[in-house]
Amino acid sequence: MAHLQKIFLFFLLFTLILFSQESFRKEIHVPDILGYKTLKCDFHMHTVFSDGSVWPDIRVEEAWREGLDCIAITDHIEYQPHKDDIRRNNNRSYELALSVAEKFGIMLIRGTEITKSMPPGHFNAIFIKDANLLDTADFRVAFRLAREQGSFTVFNHPFWRDPDYPVVDGKVRWMKEHQELFDAGLFQGIEIVNETSYYPEAFRWALENNLTILGNSDVHIPVTMFWDYPAGEHRPVNLLFVTEKSPEGVKDALLSRRTVVYYEDMLFGKEEYLNAIFSKSVTVKKIGINGKNIFFEVSNNSSFDYKLSLKEKHPDFNIPDAFTLKKNSKVHITIRNKENKGTFPLETIFTVKNLHSAPEKTIDIKLVFE
Ligand SMILES: [Zn+2]
Ligand SMILES: [Zn+2]
Repeated sequence: MAHLQKIFLFFLLFTLILFSQESFRKEIHVPDILGYKTLKCDFHMHTVFSDGSVWPDIRVEEAWREGLDCIAITDHIEYQPHKDDIRRNNNRSYELALSVAEKFGIMLIRGTEITKSMPPGHFNAIFIKDANLLDTADFRVAFRLAREQGSFTVFNHPFWRDPDYPVVDGKVRWMKEHQELFDAGLFQGIEIVNETSYYPEAFRWALENNLTILGNSDVHIPVTMFWDYPAGEHRPVNLLFVTEKSPEGVKDALLSRRTVVYYEDMLFGKEEYLNAIFSKSVTVKKIGINGKNIFFEVSNNSSFDYKLSLKEKHPDFNIPDAFTLKKNSKVHITIRNKENKGTFPLETIFTVKNLHSAPEKTIDIKLVFE
C-alpha cells in the first residue's frame, strides 16, 4: 500500500475512534456556580447482588455514558432474590465495579440499602466501609452501625406504594420511628424524587427538618431500558456543588445540603443555587433594531429548559409574556418600545415555571436587555 494511503487510513481510523468514544458519553451541561464545582450523581441503584438484573460494571459504564461523575451502588441487604445463584456478599457489587469506575473516571461510593418494613422503611447508607456488618434484624442497630462507619443515610422513596407499606390517607406519615432516628442524627437526607416519582410532601419535610434533598434512579434493569434517552428522557440526577472532586468533597456537599435535583424537565433546590445555574447558563445579546422593535438573542448553554413567564407588564415596552429557553439553544425575542419612551438597560423579572425552590414555589429571575 502506498505510504500516503496508509497515513490516510490511519487518520480515518483515529478520527472514527475519537468520534465514537465522544458520542458514547452524553454530557449534562450545567455550570459551576458560587465558587463550587458541579458534579452529576446518582446514589441509588441495584445489581444482581440484590434484585437488579445487571452486573455491577454495567452501572459504571451507564453512568459514564449518561454524563454522570459519581454513583453509589446500593444493593439491598435484606432482599436478595438471586442468592441461590450468586453468593451473598453485600460488599461484592462495589468491589466488582471499582476497577471499571477507575477506568472510566467515575467516582464510586460504597453503599447499601437497609431494607426494613415500614416503619422505618428503606434507607440508603452511603460512605460506609463494610456493608456486611449492617446485616442485622434490628433497624436501630443497623442505623447505629452505619453511623459508626461514617454513613450518610437517606430516607428512600418515603411514599412508595407497596402493599407492605401502611398508607394513611394515601400517604406514608412521618412516624415516631422516623422522628426517633432523626432526633438521634441517624439520617441526614431524603429522596424527594425516586425513579419516576416526585414527592412534594418529602420536599416539605426536607425543608422543615433541614434534610438534604436527593433524586435517585433506584434503577433495577438497564437504565436505557427504563428511560428513553434518544427521546430526551433521563434518570433523576443529583447536582452537587463541591469544593473538590473527591469522595470527601461529595460527602461535604451532601452534609452541607448543597444539592439540586434534576427530574424530568424540572430542577428542585435552594433558590440561590437555581438562580446561579440560570444566570450562568443564560446570556442576552442585542442583535438588531427596526424602528420601535429591538431584537435580542437569548442563549441557554445548559442541558435544562427554562420556561419563563413575565412577572408584570412594563408601561413603556411590549415584552413577550412567556417563552421557553430550550436546552443548549438560542431564541430570538422582540421587544417593542411602544412610544419610544422606554430607556435601556431594561430590567425584567420572569418566573421560571420549572425551577422549584419548594413544593408549589417557583423562582424569579432577572433578565437585562440593553
Ligand atoms: Zn427501596
Ligand atoms: Zn432501592
